[in-house]
Amino acid sequence: MNNQLYGNLIFELSKTGRKGYSLPKNRFGAYEVPAALRRHKDAELPECDEMTVVRHYTNLSANNFGVDNGFYPLGSCTMKYNPKINEEIAALPQFQDLHPLQPADTTKGARALVSLLEQQLCTLTGLAHFTFKPYAGAHGELTGLMIIDNYHRSRGDMQRKKVIVPDSAHGTNPASATVCGLEILEVKSTAEGLVSVEDLERIISQEGSNIAAMMMTNPNTLGLFETAIPEITRLIHDCGGLMYYDGANLNPMLGVCRPGDMGFDVMHINLHKTFSTPHGGGGPGSGPVGVREGLQQFFPFVSPYEGNFGVLIKACAYIMSLGRDYIKEVGPLATLNANYIKESLKDVYELPIEGLCKHEFVFDGLKDKSTGVTTMDVAKRLLDYGYHAPTIYFPLLFHESLMIEPTENESKDTIDGFIQVMRQIAEEARTNPELLKSAPHNTPIGRVDDVLAAKHPIVTYRQMLADNG
Ligand SMILES: *Cc1c(COP(=O)(O)O)cnc(C)c1O
Repeated sequence: MNNQLYGNLIFELSKTGRKGYSLPKNRFGAYEVPAALRRHKDAELPECDEMTVVRHYTNLSANNFGVDNGFYPLGSCTMKYNPKINEEIAALPQFQDLHPLQPADTTKGARALVSLLEQQLCTLTGLAHFTFKPYAGAHGELTGLMIIDNYHRSRGDMQRKKVIVPDSAHGTNPASATVCGLEILEVKSTAEGLVSVEDLERIISQEGSNIAAMMMTNPNTLGLFETAIPEITRLIHDCGGLMYYDGANLNPMLGVCRPGDMGFDVMHINLHKTFSTPHGGGGPGSGPVGVREGLQQFFPFVSPYEGNFGVLIKACAYIMSLGRDYIKEVGPLATLNANYIKESLKDVYELPIEGLCKHEFVFDGLKDKSTGVTTMDVAKRLLDYGYHAPTIYFPLLFHESLMIEPTENESKDTIDGFIQVMRQIAEEARTNPELLKSAPHNTPIGRVDDVLAAKHPIVTYRQMLADNG
């Protein structure tokens, strides 16, 4: 990489009068833009030759880390391989050039795809109907809770305004419930990391007639299968509440078991995690919501058209390219890969909860706490070795959480390489902790001061110039 080019802004590469284009001669008469619509002064655009522009942006793009250029073991977010055939199908002009307002009889193919995907998701989840309007997982949660709220209100059950959320839940669960105007009751986890049925019984005995729903993530954010689900769904249904399933990460369940069969009434799926689609940095996403028979009339209006249609195409292509037989291997492989990493590292990283995990698991930092090396240091050092860091400091149940999800796509060699580097880092923590505390050393920008960046963000070019004197 040309370091002189990298680090410059395109504006700094600008030379007055330099051009990277030539326009054809104007064959038409002059057209004057009305004075009222004209700029008062010229737009400050960079003036560069074509090669400079190409190199500048290519070098910048090479600083991006993605699933396509390295291992990305980010827990809870499922950064899995996105097969290129999905992109090709989504880019077919018959799909890509659709306009949301074109006459319905010209969009039959697109609508057939949506109903095919609905059938596929119903088959995989055991639910009866899906809406594809939500744009992300959190949007799906909000939609699902609105369905539940509409259901209770349709029965005149106005006082049901409380939602039970486990303390291990993803932060979007309590946030969505709050946005929906519902109140949260937090249920504790047991020492084994599962929902405490005892604590749940206590909550129900106090609040039973106010409970609208219970939200559960399964496998939960510790990667553990919630084994008490039959008992929990019975308790909630008996007190008149509905069961909500956070199916953001369905990877380990595909073709193995179904939320509908477990007694859940409403769920969302993150198509952009479980069924591929490149995501991150806020999009694009799709969080379809499924319901059991009888709840579909409560679908609220949360967005026009069919949500992020491109993501639906990719999910459908992903499901169809695996097919009925191979989709059953996703869950077992995701589970095998996660357990293999966990067992290979638990002698040097602290494993707070023993036993079989599903698609992901959590370490509580390094086992040897005497070195002072933190989870943050380990994550930064991984960047030096060319790996994206796992999710860190989430879930909040432990102080030094390091949450790893390899996904089903990775080969044993890739995983062995990661294990070897994680062991190497544990060794460095013992022999040279300073090396880790100042990491990363090989990236274009070193350790960022998070607090300064948050308290004093430099968001414009002018401000950066002013700050640099
Ligand atoms: C990612 C995730 C969400 C939120 O999904 P977004 O698409 O980011 O809004 C909710 N719950 C769990 C368990 C998740 O992993």
